[in-house]
Amino acid sequence: MDFTLSEEQKMLVETLRTMGERENFKELAKRIDETCEFPSAINAILAIEELAKFSPMIAAPVFESNVGPVRVIDLFGSEEHKKRLIPGVCAGEMSVSVCMTEPEVGSDLTSLGTRAVEDGDSYILNGRKSFITGGGHASHYMVYTRFGESKGYKAIGGLLVEKGMPGFSFGKQERYMGLHGMPSCDLFFDDVRVPKKNLIVPPGDFGKLMWTFDIERCGNAAMCLGVAGGALDAAKAYAMERNAFGKLICEFQAVQFLVVDMATKLDAARLLVYRAASGAGQGLPSIYEASMAKAYANEMVVEVTDKAMQVFGGYGYSSEFPVERMYRDAKAWGVAGGTLQMLKIGVAGMIFGRRFDQRR
Ligand SMILES: Cc1cc2nc3c(=O)[nH]c(=O)nc-3n(C[C@H](O)[C@H](O)[C@H](O)COP(=O)(O)OP(=O)(O)OC[C@H]3O[C@@H](n4cnc5c(N)ncnc54)[C@H](O)[C@@H]3O)c2cc1C
Repeated sequence: MDFTLSEEQKMLVETLRTMGERENFKELAKRIDETCEFPSAINAILAIEELAKFSPMIAAPVFESNVGPVRVIDLFGSEEHKKRLIPGVCAGEMSVSVCMTEPEVGSDLTSLGTRAVEDGDSYILNGRKSFITGGGHASHYMVYTRFGESKGYKAIGGLLVEKGMPGFSFGKQERYMGLHGMPSCDLFFDDVRVPKKNLIVPPGDFGKLMWTFDIERCGNAAMCLGVAGGALDAAKAYAMERNAFGKLICEFQAVQFLVVDMATKLDAARLLVYRAASGAGQGLPSIYEASMAKAYANEMVVEVTDKAMQVFGGYGYSSEFPVERMYRDAKAWGVAGGTLQMLKIGVAGMIFGRRFDQRR
């Protein structure tokens, strides 16, 4: 194999080295080592937002290593799991996918049908998962499954399945409207023997697990801030260089109002997302704050990218310019990580102080 770095790779290394020195990462590393504290959640959110201004694909590694499913291992895994996975994920050598959705079950997760049955010192896993981000590409899979025959959420837990385990296979790459370049596919479990030591979330801890998922929701919302921020920057720049009726279009009040609405909605979303992430501190965000922030940011990013396309006129609809891609990327976030409707149902329950049972 040829390990010679390309010019681009050399530049990347140089940029990271300079950034490390400028930001005094040596001191940060010492502090983390001494205090044993995970860096504040808000730092990851800021990094995701900045990188997602270019593309969510560029922000994906920061998302994965800071707010992705690896945090389930961080919070629930044994010391052995943590040592085995976290450094590898942070180094970009390993990745973990979260596997909840099934062909017949998405929002109604507690009806999932994937099943793990005890057999000696292993579980035998059977089932199918859909729309799994990182599918085929990730080294590890946090699979949410039913243990035994009982119905309802109490029998659901999480097993860590490794790529290459016999009986574990992948479907074809999903073709999405946006987020091109993101690996995603169905997973098939056909009598996969998973050692009992790979049980990360025992059945009964499903509630706690959903809470952990709120970290990922803050990451999802940060992606929305980034995409919307990228669209706002592009629209502003375009409005300051495009002429109509002998004037720059930024001089028309109708265009100004489009841009003002974009900036206002983006700022409002940012305040909600930062509140949720800062509130999390070293732990978990409040479900109320994270759900509200994600739902608002999910709607905001679609509106902002839509308005950016409008500022660009015909060029907004052309793939020669980035805003149509941003609009396509924007649409994903209100479904991924829980639909807008399901999040709002959860928030409504907290506002009214009672649970609204969706089955009755
Ligand atoms: C880009 C992308 C990435 C994804 N990544 C992953 C992943 O990594 N891992 C994973 O497990 N899944 C992933 N998913 C799947 C995603 O989590 C599910 O699509 C989502 O939870 C919705 O499930 P569903 O598609 O089955 O829709 P359904 O649950 O069938 O919902 C269909 C519609 O009905 C609405 N609805 C359902 N129930 C109610 C109710 N009680 N009240 C009001 N409205 C309701 C929903 O809001 C939605 O509008 C991803 C999806 C996308 C698009």
